[in-house]
Amino acid sequence: MKYELAKLLAGDGFSCSCGKNHFGLLKDCCIGENALAENLIPMLEKYSIRHPFVLCDRETFRAAGEQVTTLLQQNGIAYTLHCIARTRPAPDERIVGEAVMFCDARCDGVLAVGGGVINDTGKVLSAARNIPDIYIATAPSMDGFASATSSMEREGLKVSLPSRCPDAVIGDAAILASAPVEMIRSGVGDMAAKYVSLTEWEIAHLLIGEYYCPIVADMVRDALETCVREAEAAVKGDHEAVCHLAEALVLSGMAMNYAGVSRPASGMEHYISHILDMQALEFGNPASYHGIQCGVGTLITLQAYEKLRSVKPDKEKALAYAKAFSLQAHEEHLRKQLGKGAEAMIAGEAKEGKYDTAKHEERLEKILSIYDRILACMEKLPAEAELTEFFKKIGHPISGKEFGVTEDALKEAFLMAKDIRDKYVLGRLLWDLGLLDEFAAALNV
Ligand SMILES: [Zn+2]
Ligand SMILES: [Zn+2]
Repeated sequence: MKYELAKLLAGDGFSCSCGKNHFGLLKDCCIGENALAENLIPMLEKYSIRHPFVLCDRETFRAAGEQVTTLLQQNGIAYTLHCIARTRPAPDERIVGEAVMFCDARCDGVLAVGGGVINDTGKVLSAARNIPDIYIATAPSMDGFASATSSMEREGLKVSLPSRCPDAVIGDAAILASAPVEMIRSGVGDMAAKYVSLTEWEIAHLLIGEYYCPIVADMVRDALETCVREAEAAVKGDHEAVCHLAEALVLSGMAMNYAGVSRPASGMEHYISHILDMQALEFGNPASYHGIQCGVGTLITLQAYEKLRSVKPDKEKALAYAKAFSLQAHEEHLRKQLGKGAEAMIAGEAKEGKYDTAKHEERLEKILSIYDRILACMEKLPAEAELTEFFKKIGHPISGKEFGVTEDALKEAFLMAKDIRDKYVLGRLLWDLGLLDEFAAALNV
């Protein structure tokens, strides 16, 4: 990679041509052969952890926890171990409660051993107790390693909880390479999402003047290209390739810290995945790993961008569409599709005035006046067919049907993705142009 993790971590951030002083939150990242054996004890010493709290589940205990506790014993370090007895525990009150209750007063640091859920829980715990946190990754499955928020479920709703960025991440080549292949594919899917997020970041910058940093964007594109180049080897368990994928994921997480927003790494495709997660939580609908859902969301989004590039925007049509839009019917639809999760979205819309007709007219004028430049941003996107071929090669799902999500459900998710946050993504551009419903209906998913 052009941007070396070690160099980025060594400095205390850097001042950038975008005017920002970028600084990361992660202090150490040790990814490579024998990373666990070589770095665990030095990291405990560095962060003055004398009695770690080891958090894992049964699977991740087998994958890495056993090795962690053996190393602690060999070095005469006392520890408290809590192994969650459920398979694939949910990131909810129960797991946080367990973590708090078992992390006794002697514990002066967290060693979270596992995937995203264990990492997110470790981050919540270390924030609550104000103690350092070391994350030992068992799979390169998503890019949340280095963020200071935790993706949790609270009272049955998905929330992004402010927590604490791990002080150090350890990714051992042998452990990462023996992760279930579906989780490695998930990491690739989460990286493929960056094709869309980078383009939408640029569009939002042009259209609504959102902050944008070309250096951070370039960093993520570099990580994305590395990941695409090495994905085939990574899913076969090649140690070096898996480590490069893990580094790309860490870098992508750091890019969000640098930018101070999630723009570099998440866009329309992440919101499609988010809708599926909400429905899974509320109604028990089928779902897959975060990155896999984002990967499929990326394909759908690329398909719609491709179609948009061949359409000439029509001002009258867009105005008529906005005029015919019923906010009340829209809100009812959200409630029916998403249950109680819809309320936060509806409140967010009211606060932002998302469907205010005067604001729409203003945006539409701007869209039409710079449409050539918006089109130029879209030209950086790969063709849907190209990404489909790539996914097929690595065994990554190319359709929601492969994990039980129907065509209709995906079309619905495409329609509602724009309502998740106040971010300007493809769904909102299509709504502004009066094209959202017809595009969703025409999707071939
Ligand atoms: Zn910058
Ligand atoms: Zn993601």
